[in-house]
Order: sequence, then C-alpha cells, then structure tokens
Amino acid sequence: MDTIAERFAVVREKMVDAATAAGRLPDEIELVAVSKTHPPESIRAAVEEAGQTLFGESRLQEARAKQPLLPGRLRWHFVGHLQKNKIRAALPHFELFHGVDSLELARQIQRIAEEEGLRPAVLIEVNVAGEASKFGFPAATVEAQIEDLLALDRLAIEGLMCIPPPGPTPEHSRPFFVQLRELRDRLQMSARVGLPHLSMGMSNDYEVAVQEGATLVRVGTALFGERTRR
Ligand SMILES: *Cc1c(COP(=O)(O)O)cnc(C)c1O
Repeated sequence: MDTIAERFAVVREKMVDAATAAGRLPDEIELVAVSKTHPPESIRAAVEEAGQTLFGESRLQEARAKQPLLPGRLRWHFVGHLQKNKIRAALPHFELFHGVDSLELARQIQRIAEEEGLRPAVLIEVNVAGEASKFGFPAATVEAQIEDLLALDRLAIEGLMCIPPPGPTPEHSRPFFVQLRELRDRLQMSARVGLPHLSMGMSNDYEVAVQEGATLVRVGTALFGERTRR
C-alpha cells in the first residue's frame, strides 16, 4: 500500500509533467484535495506528511464537523452543489464555491452575501454535455445570462467549472475540457471580464484537464483512496 505522501507525490508529479508537456507553468495549477467522506485523520495526514493545505468538500454538514478539528491555516473550497437553505451557513467557511449552477442560486448568494457583508468567490458550473441529470448552466445559458451574473456585485466570479460525463478513458473528457476553455475565452471577450480559473479534472482525467488549461484540479480518490460511503 502506498503512503499518503507517495500518493500526493505521484499526483503532483503528473500535474507538473502534464503542464510542462502543454507548455504551461506548473505554478498556474493548484491541487484541490477532495476530502469528502474521509475522516479528519486522513486530512491531517495529508497536511503533515504531504504538506497539503487546500481541501475540497461537497457536503456542508460534514465539512463543518471536520474543519474545527483541523489547523486553522487550511484553505477550503466547496466543490458540491450548494443548497439554497445552506448558503448562509456555508459562506464564511469556504474561500471558493466551485458549483454555482443556476442564476437563481447566484441571486440567492448575492442577497445573503449582502446581508452578511461578505463577498464570496465563485465559479460558474457548466453542464458541458447537456446531461439532464446533472447540475449546471447549459453553455448557451451562461452566454445568455453572463451579464445578469456579472450584475451581482457581491459575487466575485472567478471562472468556470465542469464535471464531464464518466467515460471509458481520460481522453473521453478532453472535448469537454476544450469546450469549457473555449466558452471561458468567449465570455472574457464578449463580457470584457477576467475569468482566470478553470476548475476541471478529477482522479481519472486531471492530466488531460491540465493539458487543456485547468487552473484547479479536484482530486479525491487518487489521493485518499476509494470512498466507502457517500
Ligand atoms: C468527489 C468529487 C471530486 C473528486 O472525485 P475523484 O474521482 O475521487 O477524484 C471532484 N469534484 C467533485 C465536484 C466531486 O464531488
């Protein structure tokens, strides 16, 4: 069995190799260690043995239970679907929300952020394959609604995020990552806005994501092992 330090080393090395092969600077890409379902001891091991400080969680209650047990200097991203009734409780505890998946949710975050005097950083989740079962803006809807989103002055919209449909190989994800990057480029031109972040790539396809421009990769299983409960 590999140690947690070894697993982190392997993933980081593959990220560097993928970046270098694509002519990118490895520093442009950050590893979000997705620790959902894993106990605080596993996170602590990642901190102490692998020097990891950025973690991703997808369930508020679980994250809030674990955060106080861990060093205060850790950084947390919310990578899941944020329920509207959890916004107020979630806002103070995450530096970035990856999954803002509808205009209605964005408006609710705006309203609560205003009340709380906060300015949350968010990514717009795009349903790149148009799957009926998935959260996220259809690509055409993001383009149609970008001005409405940008009008929400409490939201720092920092980029786009996607979760491609599962496929047989990592290459299966590439066209979806390309699509997300091209959508980002179009939005930057049409709305004259900076959208620096592309959150894309998970355990099975993060190298392809890095080749296609990811700035944040969300990796869980390759670092912490299989999840037993969900
Ligand atoms: C669970 C999860 C991940 C990590 O997935 P792995 O396949 O375990 O790397 C990444 N992104 C999101 C949004 C997740 O919910």
